[in-house]
Amino acid sequence: MTDKNHLNPLKESLGTNYNPSNILPAKLSADSQLHFRCHPGVSCFTACCGNINIILTPYDILRIRRALKLPADEFLLRYTTPVYLEKTDLPGVKINLDENGRCPFVTEQGCMIYEQRPTTCRYYPVGMSYFHSAGQEEAGAEEFYFLVKEDHCKGHEEDKLQTISEWRVDQGIDESDDMNREWMEIVMRRKSFGLQATLSESAKKMFFMASTDLDKFRRFVFESPFLETYEIDQETLDKIKTDDVALMFFSFRYLTATLFGTKGVGITIKADKIRAKVEELKDKQAGAEARAEETYNELVKDRDALLKAQAEAKKSKK
Ligand code: SF4
Ligand code: SF4
Repeated sequence: MTDKNHLNPLKESLGTNYNPSNILPAKLSADSQLHFRCHPGVSCFTACCGNINIILTPYDILRIRRALKLPADEFLLRYTTPVYLEKTDLPGVKINLDENGRCPFVTEQGCMIYEQRPTTCRYYPVGMSYFHSAGQEEAGAEEFYFLVKEDHCKGHEEDKLQTISEWRVDQGIDESDDMNREWMEIVMRRKSFGLQATLSESAKKMFFMASTDLDKFRRFVFESPFLETYEIDQETLDKIKTDDVALMFFSFRYLTATLFGTKGVGITIKADKIRAKVEELKDKQAGAEARAEETYNELVKDRDALLKAQAEAKKSKK
């Protein structure tokens, strides 16, 4: 579309309030054709920028707040509400709607952050879904498309015919997807574990901070014992000190390493920290063994005392 829009390419992963009856029952590919055009002349212009659920990816947050010239914490406070990403225990944020259920960025002229609009808004009316084969969670997910056709959206009545690939280029979706892909993979992998596998509160807080507030994540890297624990090459450190996009990609690698224990992502725990942990575990184990021995010895003592008492009782009866 050429102006504001909505709905979620990330539906299956992040959740959107589509009415399932508006989803056309066909699995589409990048070569499938789409009859659609959205422009300020359509009678429904901006109708779709209300009563929607727009989950923001880390890159969405970064580019919108940059455009608004706001630090991450102020942007989050003013424009978002925390939510759990659909069917996961991972916390993220969605855009706050105003008292009329409208997006805070919609005006009569269209979207005031159009060039930086969220990924979700770029896709509409196309949806994208990811599919992970069971047991293949570490492999890349298969992507496919579907079409959302809602009564109020007149863009479907326009003449323009294009493939989904062309639609993606037109809407700048490729760049968004490249920026979001690694984070989406984390969400999908976590989702494949089901809700019975729950993350610790500190892991949830870390995911939330890294996914929503890069300013805070940078302070965490440079102003906490982080660098005493992890081995990070100097080139990376120099880059992430000032480059937000590099820091964002670094945060994805950090989350992948910590949430899934994935190796080979360039983030390793320093050898002395591992040794200290092994010693700590050994101490704990040695402590547990000593306690077990103590308990055993007490039981033996009790048993001997009992046998002695029984023997004495027998003797006195004779
Ligand atoms: S961000 Fe822009 S395109 Fe998306 S719902 Fe809001 S006004 Fe519409
Ligand atoms: S409802 Fe459809 S055609 Fe109308 S503004 Fe939204 S996306 Fe464009």
